[in-house]
Amino acid sequence: MLLGSRILWAPTNCRGAPPIFSPNNHAFPTTRLFIPSASLKRHENKEVDDYAQLKDKVENLGISCDSINPGEYTRLMCPKCKGGRLMERSLSLHISGKRNYALWRCFNFECGWAGQILAHNNTTSDGVHQLGRMNSPQVLTEESLKLEPLGDMLAAYFAKRMISKDTLKRNHVMQMAGDQVIIAFTYRWNSMLIGCKYRTLEKRFWQEKGTDKVLYGLDDVIEADEIIIVEGEIDKLSVEEAGYPNCVSVPNGAPQSITSKELLPLEEDTRFSYLWNCKEWLEKASRIVLATDDDLPGQALAEELTRRLGKERCWKVCWPKKDEFSSYKDANEVLVNLGSKALKEAIECAVPYEMQNLN
Ligand SMILES: [Zn+2]
Repeated sequence: MLLGSRILWAPTNCRGAPPIFSPNNHAFPTTRLFIPSASLKRHENKEVDDYAQLKDKVENLGISCDSINPGEYTRLMCPKCKGGRLMERSLSLHISGKRNYALWRCFNFECGWAGQILAHNNTTSDGVHQLGRMNSPQVLTEESLKLEPLGDMLAAYFAKRMISKDTLKRNHVMQMAGDQVIIAFTYRWNSMLIGCKYRTLEKRFWQEKGTDKVLYGLDDVIEADEIIIVEGEIDKLSVEEAGYPNCVSVPNGAPQSITSKELLPLEEDTRFSYLWNCKEWLEKASRIVLATDDDLPGQALAEELTRRLGKERCWKVCWPKKDEFSSYKDANEVLVNLGSKALKEAIECAVPYEMQNLN
């Protein structure tokens, strides 16, 4: 049920148009309002079939699903390491609320087995996508990375950028221990620390070595049918201030320009490896809203993303005008200068990607 069945509205006049998003709720209004009861029945049956299939696949891996409640995380015995020396229930298993996929990760330091299964996925023989240890030889923890809660200086920095304490806390934004003031944006998957990006106040960035690139805020879009993608971690936090947690940031900013060449094969498409690493979640979304920066690299990023995600389901946010000649640059600039309501409005006014230049 993709964009083809959606009602498009006049993008030039946002006011009066129906709201696209329901803030604080991952569901968006769609055209799926009147479903004939016969097809509803088929849909229900399909869900039951999917769940049975999914449970079968999980059981085949040696994970016992008896005590599982969909939508929750359950600690179980890991069939790979049997809980290590302590023989603890080290495997965290999650079956989605919609019962269409399962995720797991073993918290035993020496094991770290992780993966996911979609109920119906024919891309691999058994539908299992093993995340393995995501290239990371060590299991990351806040202690091993020497992270600590945000101090006064960075709390003041984020307050100036209109990011609330609640949002910082929910996203586990931390700082590096030591004399230097360095922000640590923690990257998590299934609540587990799998990467970290550091940023100084002078805008110097680097990423924790040996970790795979994934989207920032991944856990916030696992159940989302509609996903907002921004260009930086602070923009992700800003969009959340406007009421949309279903937002992720790319981990490595925007390219300088669009590559005119054909798309590279998966293994060589390193700059966008995060899209392939997060493919399962992105595939499920019926609508993807690109809220990249209003500059040439931002446009190049939006174009590169749509080339890989499919133009027909991509929408684009146009940032409000600053003056006659220019617009605000990104989500955080809009939040700081115009407030969260204006940011929410800008996101609501996203236009279908292919129509963005028709205004
Ligand atoms: Zn294990």
